[in-house]
Amino acid sequence: MDHARLTRLVRQHARTSELLGVSFVPAFRTSPDAVLAAPPAAEPSAPAPRVVQSVGAKPGSTPDVVVVRTDKSRAERTQQKTQAELDDLRRQYEADAPHKQFVTAHTNIVFGEGDPCARLMFVGEAPGADEDRTGRPFVGRAGQLLNKMIGAMGLTREQVYIANVLKTRPPDNATPTSDEIRICAPYLFEQIGIIDPEVIVTLGLPASRALLNTVETMSRLRGTWAAFRAPPPSGRSIAVMPTYHPAFVLRAYTPENRAKVWSDLKMVMDRLGLASPGRSPA
Ligand code: URA
Repeated sequence: MDHARLTRLVRQHARTSELLGVSFVPAFRTSPDAVLAAPPAAEPSAPAPRVVQSVGAKPGSTPDVVVVRTDKSRAERTQQKTQAELDDLRRQYEADAPHKQFVTAHTNIVFGEGDPCARLMFVGEAPGADEDRTGRPFVGRAGQLLNKMIGAMGLTREQVYIANVLKTRPPDNATPTSDEIRICAPYLFEQIGIIDPEVIVTLGLPASRALLNTVETMSRLRGTWAAFRAPPPSGRSIAVMPTYHPAFVLRAYTPENRAKVWSDLKMVMDRLGLASPGRSPA
């Protein structure tokens, strides 16, 4: 069996197992069958958000685990190759169709878009009606404000990557439930692992909680740096800046809320070494 096919098999099996509640998959060296037979690897000891523990190595864990993706340094990556990995993940998502576990009358899968090697990634909660119709994240009213926020940072949408925790519009357009997030977040985590951004801005409570594995309130989370542990193979700690969701800012369009979001974004710009155009997005 060629390596790519084997890799796909393992990844698919690992995801299915994870969705069934298995939080780890032990290694094999010769045959995928051994994945089922080997004893479990130890749980990670470092405090980390809940990540897909299915593939990749944890230092000191036994037995060795299968490394599905090779860990490339950022400099080695090309947009084409990274996009190809994202395309693979999308195909995997489509095959697994985790959203089918909850009733959803979606039209399109909204997987995410932007520079596959972006230094900055924005993560929202779930597609709305406009996103469902177009298959693109953040294209409705909230998206217009997000565009302004990105523009105020001196960037374009094409220079960042935008994704959501859920890849399909939730039933009745409701806030995603914790079950929906648990089922879909592993795909986002893999997506983040592939893109490997330097900074993630989480937009609103569901995205912030999903990445930071916390039940803190938004007013406590926003404006403070946190970290997301990327899934193996990189396992890197990625800086996270939680901020208010643009839809919330549109609903509560006060100078205070706008100033808070702008202050959060300026911290991100400082971290990324982006020059401040010195004006608020809204
Ligand atoms: N709200 C989100 O969280 N995501 C979108 O893509 C659009 C609106």
